[in-house]
Amino acid sequence: MKALVKAQAVEGLWMQDIPEPDIGPDDVLIRVHNTAICGTDVHIYNWDDWAQKNVPVPMVVGHEFGGVIEEVGANVHRVMPGMRVSGEGHVVGEKSRAVRAGRFHLDPDTKGVGVNIPGAFAEYLVIPAFNVVPLPDDVAMEQAAFLDPLGNAVHTATAYDLTGEDVLITGAGPIGIMAAAVTRHCGARHIVVTDINPDRLKLLETVVPTAVPVHTMKEDLHDVQAHLKITEGFDVGLEMSGAEPAFKQMINHMVMGGKIAMLGLPGQPFNLDMGSLIMRAITLKGIYGREMFETWHKMLAMLQSGLDVSRLITHRLPAAEFQTGFDVMRSGKAGKVILDWTKV
Ligand code: ZN
Repeated sequence: MKALVKAQAVEGLWMQDIPEPDIGPDDVLIRVHNTAICGTDVHIYNWDDWAQKNVPVPMVVGHEFGGVIEEVGANVHRVMPGMRVSGEGHVVGEKSRAVRAGRFHLDPDTKGVGVNIPGAFAEYLVIPAFNVVPLPDDVAMEQAAFLDPLGNAVHTATAYDLTGEDVLITGAGPIGIMAAAVTRHCGARHIVVTDINPDRLKLLETVVPTAVPVHTMKEDLHDVQAHLKITEGFDVGLEMSGAEPAFKQMINHMVMGGKIAMLGLPGQPFNLDMGSLIMRAITLKGIYGREMFETWHKMLAMLQSGLDVSRLITHRLPAAEFQTGFDVMRSGKAGKVILDWTKV
């Protein structure tokens, strides 16, 4: 089969012919239809410090996918061939206290599809049946290709009650934009999204027209806040940028007792006055992955009840043209880039 492989410990990815993966008794073989390129895949492409430390070579990359079940292992009864599916890209162990208590997303032994174990940028993917999520008929295969990051957005946005709240989102990357869409769907009042990339803020306006985009190099957040009559500060903050200036600005614009959920992964440590958190009585929550499988249930339910993030797709390409996809992702001008694995 064709697969996109990190074949050498240098920048780049290579389309190769490799054997179809073996399927164990508890596994499912999926014919991949659509995948989406994630920031994680770009890290692996670039072969940065994180990738060098975490990704063994060679490795089939990719973890955002939708496809159709081709075959199931002998012990698998919950799902069957022919079902349209996506799946959780975190493969958990069975030993940790968290897993034994059903808190799968907190398992310290988690392995990542397309990071530590063979991934989804291929014609066929094998994952444990446990990880497979069937798609409702009204959820498109293109959407299935990026349920994984939508799940990050849903997990972050649903960390706190949003109904009637004023919400500040720092970072208008694809997950920040999806978090804005989810926040709107959940009934927030004002949604303000900051970034310093005009292309991303423009894409935000396309996907979530009722969110307020703020270019923080050109506009003062105090002015925006005054204009919207958010007199005491934002009730909820969703930190999606991993950028120190954005996070510091967020803290300064929160209401007393405000709540912040953090998904954006900083590239380096923050130099932060902890007193600024304490004096505002801020609650901070770190978000990792998706809750298995409550986040999946909620996002599919929201997609079935009007949540629409399809305009986030900026590029649709045959998998054979993956290089173009990675080039636009690395330019920072793309939303979601969908690769079609029925055209390799
Ligand atoms: Zn991803």
